[in-house]
Formats: sequence, C-alpha cells, structure tokens
Amino acid sequence: MTQFMKKLLIGISSLLVLFLAYSLWNWDSSPPTIQWREAPSAVGKDSQISLEIQDEGKGLQSLEVAWVRSGDRHIVVSETYEAPWSWQQGITRRSLAFSAGTSFAEGSLSEGEFLLEVRVRDQSDLWFWENEIFEQRSFTLDLTAPKIQVLSGQHYIRQGGSEAILYRVSEDTVASGVQVGEHVFRGYPLPERGQGIHVCLFALAHDQAPATDMSLWAKDAAGNRNQTSFWKKGFPVSFRKRNIRLSDSMINAVVAEILAHTDMTQGESTLETFLEINGRLREINHRQIEEISRQSVGHLLWSGAFLQLSHSQVESAFADHRTYYYKSQKVDQQTHLGFDLASVAHGAVESANDGIVVFADYLGIYGNTVLVDHGLGLISLYGHLSSIEVQEGQGITKGAILGRTGQSGLAAGDHLHFSMILQGVQVNPLEWWDERWVDQHILVKAQVATEEGEESSREAADLFDPS
Ligand SMILES: [Zn+2]
Repeated sequence: MTQFMKKLLIGISSLLVLFLAYSLWNWDSSPPTIQWREAPSAVGKDSQISLEIQDEGKGLQSLEVAWVRSGDRHIVVSETYEAPWSWQQGITRRSLAFSAGTSFAEGSLSEGEFLLEVRVRDQSDLWFWENEIFEQRSFTLDLTAPKIQVLSGQHYIRQGGSEAILYRVSEDTVASGVQVGEHVFRGYPLPERGQGIHVCLFALAHDQAPATDMSLWAKDAAGNRNQTSFWKKGFPVSFRKRNIRLSDSMINAVVAEILAHTDMTQGESTLETFLEINGRLREINHRQIEEISRQSVGHLLWSGAFLQLSHSQVESAFADHRTYYYKSQKVDQQTHLGFDLASVAHGAVESANDGIVVFADYLGIYGNTVLVDHGLGLISLYGHLSSIEVQEGQGITKGAILGRTGQSGLAAGDHLHFSMILQGVQVNPLEWWDERWVDQHILVKAQVATEEGEESSREAADLFDPS
C-alpha cells in the first residue's frame, strides 16, 4: 500500500466516524407527547377542551385533530410545520384549545358521544426516521340545559330572613339552587319525595333590597345552565340603631385577649388595633363561618323550633346598626349579625336544635365558639364562651349543653352571642325560634314525609300545586 493510499483510508474512515457521530447526535429517539389539559367527559356549549403537544427532538412536523362519530370524520385542526436545518430544532410546543360550542357543534356535530382523534408526527432525522403518535378520547356533547319545575307556590321573605323552595329538576342535573342577588344557595335532593325533587333553603340578606332578583337555577355535568323565576314577595325590615361608647379599659382588655389568641398584630395604637379587630378580623371570621356552612350535610338533622337561651335577656338584636364612639369621636360602624343573650355568668349554653358540632375552638371576634350544623346549609353559632364542653364531629340533640357563657373574644361582659347562618349568609334567629314560622316556611317543604307527616306533605302538595 502506498503512502497515499494509507492517508486516503485514514481520511475516509475519520469522515465515516464523524458522520456516524453526527447522525447519532442527530438521532431523534423521542416521539411527540400529547397532554390533555382540560378534557371533561361531558362537554356543553361553553366547555373547553385543551391539549398541549410537545416534541423534545427535532420538533413537530404535522398535527391533525378531528372528531369522529359512526363513520363521520370532521377535521377540526390540521397543521404542518417547515423542516428546520439539521442542526436546528423546529417547533417543539403547540397548545390547542377548542370550545365545544363553536368547534364541534357548529361543525354539524349533534348531541351524543363522539371521539376526538389527535395525530402528531415529528420531524425526521438524517435517516428519514420520524415518530408518529395517535390518540383517541371519547366525549359526550350535551347542548341541552336541565329542566326545572317549581313545586312550591308562595315564597314570602323578609330582609335578613330565610325561606325554602321545593322544586324538581331533570335527571342530568348535578347542581341546583337559588340565587338571590349575588348570593348563591345550593339545593339538596329529597329522594324519598320523588325523582329529582329538591329543597333549597335560601336567605335575603339584611342589606339586600326586598325587590332583589331571585331565581332558581340548575346545571348539568356539561356546564349547561338553566334558570327560572318563581313567585316571591320580599318585605322590608327596619333594624335598630345603637351607639356604643368605647372605654380604654374595654379596648385594652379586648385587644390583649385577641392578640393572645390570633395572629393579629399590634397596630400603632390600641384603638387602631381594636378597629382592625372590629373590621378586618370580623370579615375574616365571617368568611371562615361561610366556608364551614358550605360543608353542611345534605339532609335535615333537626325538627321543630330552635331554642333561645333559657331565661335570657336580649342585649342586642339581629342586624343592629352600631356606631362606635371613642372619647365622643365617631370611630367605626358595624352591623351586629346575631343576638346577644345574657343570663347568669357562666350559664349553661344549650344547642338550639339537633345537629353535629362542626367547630369547637377559638374563632377571632367570637372567642371560644361552637358551630352546630343542622343540615341543608344551616348552622348555629355560640360565641364568647368561657368553656367548651363538646368536640368537633359530635352529634348533639336539642338542649344539649355545648359550654358555658363568658366574655372571650370581642365582648364587654358575660353573655352568649347567638347567630344563625344559612350558606354563608347571617339570618335572623327570630324566625327560627318561632315554631309556626318554621312549620309554614321550612318544614312543610323540607321535611321528608314520614307516616305521621304524610298528611302535612299532602297538604303541602295541594298548597303548592303550580298548575
Ligand atoms: Zn354579639
């Protein structure tokens, strides 16, 4: 072999090695991936289906999305991308979103099951090798909103008051209830009363106008929503106005107590800290109570009228509008959303009705507090206790001792703060203490007919016959 031949051979083999190394480096071993970001199995007019397509290697070459049903195939998206230079990467990521209403329904797809097919191919490498993936997912297109039928006839409601409505929804309903202005109340099924029959306890807040819009709504799994009006009449209530004079000793005691039990911090002055507690902490506590009332059990746990604290005197009433004065300066205004009931110091506090203890701890302005869930979104609150004698999760009967009165939290003397909350809205306990009102407004609709209750439920059906 000549010297020249040797050199040529070395040259050729090193080129070959270089080429092999390059093509190995260039080798695209990772196929594209499809990630379904939003893919609800039932899709309605406003539902979104979204997916993300990625390719780690040379990038994407093409993608196609189509809906398929019994032989019918309709392309929704079809895209191809230019090949990059061999040392470059092409498009590696593509996000797609479809609105079921416009992407499929207008493409002449009717209601029912269909498949969504996704086919993605990546760019080939030097060996013309390319990866393709194909995925299918099944969906149900549902463009029909649930049906609603109002069964109860009359709904009288006062400002700060409660009411119940009986109605029937079609089988596809997953959530329903009443909307009063911005407040949304959930209804609960009464399966013993019949297919689709629901009851919803709702409230007109103390600060909502008697003419506030109220409607009954229902939603299905595909997000289709229907709403209908019902016969109702709202009544105004004039609440009391009260002036409260803040003394240094009262402010100091309350601030020291609350700072010791919560994560509130000291402000520039004790008065400022007090106002923070009276305003911001009050708000926070009300949101916590709302959260708990939304977890209420789905059936009625109680019967008859609610109890007012035995031998108690009313110190403050529901929705008293309070103006606070400090050294004859007006410093704050708040609405007192409950009753302050005074009996004897450390008097026994009884549960107003049957239920389940859902909170038994310190709760900001309410101090040591017990919350009792009565079902269907209704809870009662017992605040400022000196001691708590029940535990969370405990079932209790009407009149059972929950603890002792006291002045923990934002309180100036030994008393019980009693509130009732319906799905986050504070309601007037006066109605719930009144047996006649409870029967006529709530139980006649919410109670499941028992043998002795048969009569009253038949009466209710007659009374509320919508025809
Ligand atoms: Zn109070």
